[in-house]
Amino acid sequence: MRKAHALLEAGDNTFVRTTLDGTGRETIFLPGSSLRGMLRSQSERIARTLSFDRAKPIGKPYPELHEYNYDAYTNYVAACDPLAMEGDETEPDETPYAAIACTNYMKSVMPEWLKQQNRQRAEERSEFLYQKITECSCPACLLFGNTYLAGRLKVNDAYSIESKGVDPRGETRQRLDFVAINRFTGGVRDSAKFEAHPHFHTTNQKLRFRANLTLTDLNLPKEGWMLGWLAYLLRDLYLGDLRLGLGKAKGLGKACGKLVKIRVGSLQPDLDWLNLSEGWQEETEQPGLLRVFALDLNGSSTFEHEKQLLNRYAAQYDELVDKYSRVRAGQER
Ligand SMILES: [Zn+2]
Repeated sequence: MRKAHALLEAGDNTFVRTTLDGTGRETIFLPGSSLRGMLRSQSERIARTLSFDRAKPIGKPYPELHEYNYDAYTNYVAACDPLAMEGDETEPDETPYAAIACTNYMKSVMPEWLKQQNRQRAEERSEFLYQKITECSCPACLLFGNTYLAGRLKVNDAYSIESKGVDPRGETRQRLDFVAINRFTGGVRDSAKFEAHPHFHTTNQKLRFRANLTLTDLNLPKEGWMLGWLAYLLRDLYLGDLRLGLGKAKGLGKACGKLVKIRVGSLQPDLDWLNLSEGWQEETEQPGLLRVFALDLNGSSTFEHEKQLLNRYAAQYDELVDKYSRVRAGQER
């Protein structure tokens, strides 16, 4: 019992209550870290599904699961399992084919890297380490980060955009009882029952939030795969395939979303290389950026030009997944 409560308190409080500046009105927001977690696990699912296709036995269009080549798969799956330790690949638990977390792998080789560099000057040493870390981080870690590397995708806290219908004090919240399930056996854990109070809209509509996703330091076209991967991810979000917080089995936490605006900021005055269509409007510049263009997706355009661009980036992502292999000791590029 105590354990389950601790678990809840430790990070499954999906919503946070807050007071809006200026108005004094109370509302709720979704912490960026919760949203990020949701986006990362779906991105990993996409990567694993695509990578798993490479493990198919040759000449068998509909193989049995045990016929796939799992050893090869753990070496080229394009998303590590952020919790997996060495040896987990062969454990017959719920993630039998997990690839060791890049963080856990790097923890084991970091002392050796530091030893190799301890006579170098600080500058050279940090350059060397940065190169090693990016080489040994899987695409999911490059985008979302790991212990050693800041992710490129920033996710802000998402604030409710309802002026009515949100009940921050939770008076309309209903108590739901949960039973903690043992993740390994699937059985009910001893006396691990707990309760949760999910938020509902006061008139049973959806709760709506506005979120900002920011991809920083994007190097196009080399890193177009990041945009392609995000396109896959946001399509799943649009289709309502993502779940947030507790109670997924009770049908809670279904998340749907759509893009309403895209902004591109550049450090260069010339943006011809970006190949933007006429629908993009120049905005007054933002601090640190020379030029900013925005595309309003609520407009009437069919966005054919943007669709073509996205398809190209999605193809770049497919190609990356097809060719990716994990870099490990002795085989650094
Ligand atoms: Zn990783």
